[in-house]
Amino acid sequence: MSPRFTNSVLVHDGDDCVIFDAWGRADDWLKLLGTRNLKLTAIYSTHGHPDHISAAPDLVDDTGCKWFLNGLDFDLYAWGDDLLIQFGLPPMTRGIMPISLPENPIQIFPNVNMQIIQMPGHTPGGVAFYFPDNKICLTGDSIFADGIGRTDLPGGDFTQLMQSISNFYNLNLPNDTVVVPGHGNITTVSELKTINPWFKPNK
Ligand SMILES: [Zn+2]
Repeated sequence: MSPRFTNSVLVHDGDDCVIFDAWGRADDWLKLLGTRNLKLTAIYSTHGHPDHISAAPDLVDDTGCKWFLNGLDFDLYAWGDDLLIQFGLPPMTRGIMPISLPENPIQIFPNVNMQIIQMPGHTPGGVAFYFPDNKICLTGDSIFADGIGRTDLPGGDFTQLMQSISNFYNLNLPNDTVVVPGHGNITTVSELKTINPWFKPNK
C-alpha cells in the first residue's frame, strides 16, 4: 500500500467482466458497469489492504459476483478504516466474506488463462496474477516500477518480501511481459531488470 490511487484493472469478455483490486466506492463501479452494460462475475484481490478491496463487499452485495482473496489475508479485512478516511472514503461495509483464491490453473473466462503467483511479504497472503498467453502480470503491492511494497503494516515481513521478489525474478517471465503494479506506473519485466534495484535473483 502506498499513497493514493490504486491501479484497479477491469477485464471483460463480451458482456462479462472481472475486476482486479476493486478500490474506491462500489457506486462508482456500478455506474461504470451500467454505462458499459457489463455484468460483473468476479473480483480478485491481490491482497487484503483496504485500498485494494474497499468496493468489493458492496459489489458482491449488489451484483452477486464472487470475491476472491487469499485466505491468509482474511484477517486484514477488519483493518484499515483510518486509511480509507484519509483517502476520503467511508469505512468499509463488512459482513460479506471473500472466498479463498482458487488453485492454479484458473480460467477467468473460457479463453483467458491466469496463474496465481504467491508473493507474501507486503501482506501474508499477497499474490500476483499472471496471464501467460497475454504476457501481463498484476503484481499488487509487492513490486512497483521503481520500488517495493512497504512491510511496516500489519502482517508485513521484509525478509519474506525479498524472497518473494527473488522467486518472481527466477520465474523468468518474458522480458516484454507488461507489469501492472498496485500503484504507480505500468512497467515491463525488462524495465524492472534495468530500473528496479530490488528485482534480482537470489544470491
Ligand atoms: Zn497494500
